Amino acid sequence: MMDALPVLPDSGAPGADLLEWARSLELQSAEAILAAASRRFGDRLAVVTSFQDTGSVILDIAHRNHLPIRVITLDTGRLPEETHIQIDRVRERYGIEVEIVVPDSLQVEELVRERGPNLFRVSPEHRFACCNVRKVQPFRRAVADLDAWIAGLRREQGASRRAIRTVEVDRSNRPDGSLIKIHPLADWTSEQVWQYIDEHRVPYHPLYDRGYRSIGCAPCTRAARPGEPVRAARWWWEEGAKECGLHLVQVGSR
Ligand code: SF4
Repeated sequence: MMDALPVLPDSGAPGADLLEWARSLELQSAEAILAAASRRFGDRLAVVTSFQDTGSVILDIAHRNHLPIRVITLDTGRLPEETHIQIDRVRERYGIEVEIVVPDSLQVEELVRERGPNLFRVSPEHRFACCNVRKVQPFRRAVADLDAWIAGLRREQGASRRAIRTVEVDRSNRPDGSLIKIHPLADWTSEQVWQYIDEHRVPYHPLYDRGYRSIGCAPCTRAARPGEPVRAARWWWEEGAKECGLHLVQVGSR
């Protein structure tokens, strides 16, 4: 169940309207979902992407449908060089501006001074501290002027994502319920994603050609091994949910 219906700031849209809108999109195509989101939220909407396969598909669909959706990415300071190459490819291919958000330098300095540059290997608590400073806090700053953001999550990607809805209230990133999260590819399979990329000659992240299936920071991502789940190659030394904190399950938001 989606919980107490939020009133979206500055949009004048009441919560009941939002619930109806969310339900109306649940079985729609990605094109229709993106178009409806763009109409509803205008420049208070952005795709937040790390330029993985689903993000590439979303950007291509938005471009083909002339949807003026902002594009935001987080440069954690630990990204592989190939991600920067991909950012440049996207800027050139679509002629769009990519809003690159970086962590607070004082927070990073304090973190690595106290816990070391590779603290994420020490314990899950240290790993979450790194993700918090390099990803979660910059993300929350980046979406401060947004009513809604778009992510490339798919239900097929693992247990932690199996229950996602097309439209959710993102209370983990804004507890007052005024931030909406949209998953236009929620029901896509990996095969559909790559069929789209092939058919439309979408520029994709170079690491996919080196065996990667999920891509994040360089020290926390490796190529996939045969038969392992999609996100097993992220923080592979840890057990449990392979999430950085941006996509925590939204208790009570659906
Ligand atoms: Fe730090 Fe790794 Fe998280 Fe990147 S993925 S923010 S390097 S712990």
